[in-house]
Amino acid sequence: MDCIFCKIANKEITGDLVYEDDDIVVFKDINPIAPVHLLVIPRQHISSILEIDIIEDKLIAGIFKVISKVAKEMKIDEGFRVVTNTGDGAGQSVEHLHFHILGGRKFHWPPG
Ligand code: AMP
Ligand code: ZN
Repeated sequence: MDCIFCKIANKEITGDLVYEDDDIVVFKDINPIAPVHLLVIPRQHISSILEIDIIEDKLIAGIFKVISKVAKEMKIDEGFRVVTNTGDGAGQSVEHLHFHILGGRKFHWPPG
């Protein structure tokens, strides 16, 4: 499968990794829109949150625990955002489930 995030997880291409374990990888977004902009992915390929029922509950919980851990380590816990764009209408450009962690600046609500 020609998936860039699978390739980063498998180290077929280089990513700027900040965390990895057997199931989850976190790396810096190549085109950051905030001082801290990380992507959290399961190693298991699913195309979006619409397929979340395919993956084990333990992995889903693990993703959110890693998000919390990394946000604390990056010292953005005073204000950060977790985003998963889903589908063309939301601007999803990579079809491997990923959670953006955005921090280090002020965010507005509602988002654009
Ligand atoms: P989305 O548009 O929500 O699907 O997010 C995909 C994100 O992946 C974008 O913010 C891109 O900047 C980022 N991205 C694409 N290719 C790479 C890469 N090789 N390494 C790191 N981030 C990437
Ligand atoms: Zn993939």
